[in-house]
Amino acid sequence: MPECEVLRLGHRPERDKRITTHVALTARAFGATKIHINRSDSRIVETVSDVSEKFGGNFVIETVSNPKAFVQSWEGLILHLTMFGVPFGKRLGTIIKSKEPLLIIVGAEKVPPWVFEHSDYNVAVGNQPHSEVSALAILLSNINPEGYNQTFEGGLLEVIPSSERRNMISKK
Ligand code: SAM
Repeated sequence: MPECEVLRLGHRPERDKRITTHVALTARAFGATKIHINRSDSRIVETVSDVSEKFGGNFVIETVSNPKAFVQSWEGLILHLTMFGVPFGKRLGTIIKSKEPLLIIVGAEKVPPWVFEHSDYNVAVGNQPHSEVSALAILLSNINPEGYNQTFEGGLLEVIPSSERRNMISKK
């Protein structure tokens, strides 16, 4: 199974703040190691860093100023999630077997044509429009079915699963 990073393209600070935060938290919770956002937004970096501090793990968030150059210099596979792509299941076996790092690109607004051209795989989670959050969660959970059950070391808090109440313990 490859190590997965996510590139969030086209983040519009006012409009996309919550959804980009959710893309980042979904990437973290479902087993990706890093997210790159292409417009600086300190509120998102703070929120995601705060979650990592509280709940642990080594997830990284960073801003990339030139996403095209970043994609061109990526050493590994590039997968673009798009409603216009081929069913992701057709590429899943190859992706899971790959040892190369995987960059998963999700858009916000319409993505530029170079994204389709530079991606090894343009794949869809169904061909209906829905959300980058749902598409990313479904893809990551198929690449790594236990990704969302991983242990996050070094946090300040740990959730104790309960069928009755909200329960967390402090670890420091
Ligand atoms: N019509 C837009 C487009 O050009 O793809 C939809 C944008 S959608 C709000 C934002 C992102 O969600 C897309 O860039 C894509 O990454 C993801 N997305 C939405 N529906 C998807 C689907 N059915 N399969 C895979 N990804 C999807």
